Amino acid sequence: MICNQCPRRCQAERDDTKGLGFCKSPALFKIGRHALHPYEEPCVSGEKGSGTVFFSGCNLQCVFCQNSVISYENKGKIVSYETLKSIILDLQEKGASNINLVTPTHYAHALIPLLKDVRKELRIPVLYNSSGYESVGTIESLAPYVDVWMPDFKYVSSDLSGKLSNAPDYFEVASQAVPKMVEVSGPVVLDERGLIRKGVLIRHLVLPGHRDDSMAIFDALARLVDPQDVLISLMNQYTPDFYRGQDHPELKRRLTTFEYESVVEHALKLGFRGYRQDRSSAVSDYTPDFLEEDV
Ligand code: SF4
Repeated sequence: MICNQCPRRCQAERDDTKGLGFCKSPALFKIGRHALHPYEEPCVSGEKGSGTVFFSGCNLQCVFCQNSVISYENKGKIVSYETLKSIILDLQEKGASNINLVTPTHYAHALIPLLKDVRKELRIPVLYNSSGYESVGTIESLAPYVDVWMPDFKYVSSDLSGKLSNAPDYFEVASQAVPKMVEVSGPVVLDERGLIRKGVLIRHLVLPGHRDDSMAIFDALARLVDPQDVLISLMNQYTPDFYRGQDHPELKRRLTTFEYESVVEHALKLGFRGYRQDRSSAVSDYTPDFLEEDV
């Protein structure tokens, strides 16, 4: 296939087992991991965990990615359509709260027919968990088969997104993609157990040395969407151990409490609600302690 499905628009050739585009992904599904994952936000994990499927490769190459073995080195296994369908149904049988497609953007072409098919047997929502670097047309094509969108909103600064993710147009792209996700899904809906059934949960990882850009993101988001229609998740799990770049000395340290708390406070003032991360939990344990009563 000749691929144009993400904002890179590589027009690259992708055959069954190799890919020559920016994401280096073959046309057939390649996955790095699938498992019940308990460390997502509480409305995503639920009691037994979110049914995650991590796709190998990525159309954004962030120099601080914590999944770089899968996303950057492209480690994983090529699986057939039928195998992936079985994996998804097996996660449901194991009690997954949802099917959580992690970094699926470069497989949208193949996911659309698969989701159309597998949804006939699914009783749980499908989550699309991505970097936010998405084409509006691809979101529209996926919309009938996705219940919950979980995009990152990473940067405003084009200089920063160019240096750290090789995507100087990140803000421009995400500014169209995220409102489109809200438009196609509507406001967040939680079920009686507090699990998300529909809507958009926007994630943002605060980076050391860049709290001003983080605050600018929420200023921009408040203009792009109604803060009451979405949930946000503010992450503080940045760790310098994964940093692959050379040019940003500020990224070779952990985030300070002041940096993180000032972004949380700013988002709250703008009317956002959602989740913050407990600093002591270092990696992935979420504490829904701001505006929890609204969620
Ligand atoms: S999905 Fe991959 S090959 Fe296709 S346009 Fe995007 S980066 Fe290029």
